[in-house]
Amino acid sequence: MHLVEMLRLRMVPAAGVYFALTRRCPLSCAHCSTESSLSSEQYGDEPFRRIVDSFTPDCRPEVIGMSGGEALLRASLVRDLAEAARRVGTRALAMSGMYFARTGEGITPALRRAIESLDHLTASYDRFHEREVPRRDMFRALHQVRELVPGVSMQLTGEGPDDPYLVELIEDVRREFADEVPMLVTTLASVGRAREWFTTDAAPVPAAGVEPCFQASWPLVGYDGTVLACPSRHAAAPHRPAHLVLGDSAVDSWPVLRQRALTTHLLRGVRMFGPLELRRRFGAGDGTGNYCGTCSRLGDSAELDVEVTRFLESPKGRALEAAALAVTKHAGDQAYLGTYGVAAHRELATLGWR
Ligand code: SF4
Repeated sequence: MHLVEMLRLRMVPAAGVYFALTRRCPLSCAHCSTESSLSSEQYGDEPFRRIVDSFTPDCRPEVIGMSGGEALLRASLVRDLAEAARRVGTRALAMSGMYFARTGEGITPALRRAIESLDHLTASYDRFHEREVPRRDMFRALHQVRELVPGVSMQLTGEGPDDPYLVELIEDVRREFADEVPMLVTTLASVGRAREWFTTDAAPVPAAGVEPCFQASWPLVGYDGTVLACPSRHAAAPHRPAHLVLGDSAVDSWPVLRQRALTTHLLRGVRMFGPLELRRRFGAGDGTGNYCGTCSRLGDSAELDVEVTRFLESPKGRALEAAALAVTKHAGDQAYLGTYGVAAHRELATLGWR
């Protein structure tokens, strides 16, 4: 599975689901968005297994995405979920900080079985990871991983398109893997541990009020088992507005979660217009303000919910939503990259795509 395929599916509501398997991580990167450590929390196995077991050939996501912390710390769970998902036709991907590259023990048998079960592995790397995992070790491990998984990509984070470290790293990766490893290049955000020392105007989500929110397409099962409509760190904050909470992984099945993801009116509105424009059209907003901050307060207004519901259930609203979904699906990977990637490095996502 290539990064391009993954990004195309990322634009489609409920085409995938993220599992935050653990918040634990053996690395201590200075920018860690989840502020992970080896003593961070993780949820039990059973709810993740239950959700995958509730997939059927007719009602399943196309992809499960397993993240952390460091997802591969739960190697046997990764393998079991990937294998169970594959039995009904769902593919599996995982994100890793490549911690095993630095240990000197390499890929253990359990890790190998987990990695072999995947359709895609994304390795996160940047100057903060490099302090934890030397680049040559990471490259060596990634060559081994490429022998085990059909699709491998890298997610590189820099402090802007001209960040000298980022530019040099990109060139090095291209050389090392002969342009066969695609890269998603993103900008460092002032969240998690980076909040203490990095400030920027750049937001990890669209800044313009008229922009739809693509983050709200795939649900996330969080560290405490809550199923959130939005995998963004903003929604994972302690204040969890009702329209961004889809359910509880301990009791809800995939058909139930999917149905809520596709029918919650405020969520549909956020995906279609973005929160600022949604409030401007149907509430008292003027189209300005903080993007995610506005989203988290949309449920405060009962009138807004009524107006959004009225619109989305009207023939005009349904037609507009269908057209918006079709455009989004068609725009696919380029729309995602245009919103969340670094524009100057957008073409790197297509390396090796045939
Ligand atoms: S606008 Fe809402 S759904 Fe979108 S990323 Fe922000 S909090 Fe999540």
